[in-house]
Amino acid sequence: MTKKGKHTICIHEGEIRDTQFGGAVSPIFMASSYEYLDADPMRYPRYFNTPNQEVLGKKIAALENAEAGLPFASGMAAISTTLLAFLSKGDHIVLTNEIYGGAFNFVVEEFDKMNIEYSFTDGVEVTDFEAKIKSNTKVIYIETPSNPLLTITDVKAIADLAKKHSLVSMIDNTFASPINLTPLDFGIDISIHSATKYLGGHSDILAGLVAGNSEHINTIFQKGKNLGGNLSHMISYLLERSIKTLAIRVEKHNSNSQTVAEYLVNHVDIAKVYYPGLKNHPNHNIAKEQMNGYGGMLSFELKEGLDAVKFQKSLQLIKPSMSLAGVESTILQPTLTSHALLTPEQRKAIGISDNLLRLSVGIEDVEDIIADVEQAIKK
Ligand SMILES: *Cc1c(COP(=O)(O)O)cnc(C)c1O
Repeated sequence: MTKKGKHTICIHEGEIRDTQFGGAVSPIFMASSYEYLDADPMRYPRYFNTPNQEVLGKKIAALENAEAGLPFASGMAAISTTLLAFLSKGDHIVLTNEIYGGAFNFVVEEFDKMNIEYSFTDGVEVTDFEAKIKSNTKVIYIETPSNPLLTITDVKAIADLAKKHSLVSMIDNTFASPINLTPLDFGIDISIHSATKYLGGHSDILAGLVAGNSEHINTIFQKGKNLGGNLSHMISYLLERSIKTLAIRVEKHNSNSQTVAEYLVNHVDIAKVYYPGLKNHPNHNIAKEQMNGYGGMLSFELKEGLDAVKFQKSLQLIKPSMSLAGVESTILQPTLTSHALLTPEQRKAIGISDNLLRLSVGIEDVEDIIADVEQAIKK
């Protein structure tokens, strides 16, 4: 059978047929205990193989053009388990400097205790990664588009570099979602998601997903079963339900963001806009080559003299909020949240100004999003 389209995969891939009652959706199987005599496989929630967990493994694999996939209890459970599956005492990993805060904390707070060495790059060019590779390097880890400046890393170049040095390459694909970027098509080995974001999409569940070839997924499975960060049945079901609308949501996030970005670029009170869909974005060409859409995240700087906190408090529709990627538009000031612990000098060095705001563009009518920004700037 030829491979189905993205929307069809989102809706149907992996679904459980209700042969008993003929219901139209996957039933939820609540059991944590399963028959074991003559049972192959032996099912147990921590083995990632209850029926509702398996739905998600199949769905993310199909969406990522991968052989296999696994669901986790959070994005960080997916990231930490995957990293530890491929790194042991004495190994070294090269990570992008533009990395999610939680992943950064995990590496710097835990790896020393396990005698795992790590280096962060000085930039996102392939030469920045190559410069950090050592004889004991085992893994390269990237994230694109990055948070909060939406920097784009060339995934094919990184995949090629990893192959050249026989390293396992991993990507945090959360911001793009598998609708906008399928990194395995460019040679990346493992794609990781915080499904709390676009895959969940409604700001109400915590989950993670990983996709890769069967051998890699088996390695992650072996570690995951020991660490135990598995996803529950109820949330597995909710995530399956959410993913049914993933492709259509992401298309709307993409088009709304492009419109909002173009509005902001032309606004006299906005100093700078970061969105890979803008022609003047420094990595626009790479984004165009590797992405199917530019995503729902953008950042912008208010002109000096405007108060970013007051601006956020004046918004009526867009919610100042910690997380991102829900159907509703949300906004966050990195200097007060993800980058609060850095000194002003450190922030300046990585290009994060005090007036920078990260907007997660929702799927409301775009005119209403723009009108809200406009009235808040006026105030
Ligand atoms: C939120 C996020 C994570 C962590 O996911 P959780 O589900 O909160 O554990 C990892 N990477 C990125 C890019 C994220 O935005």
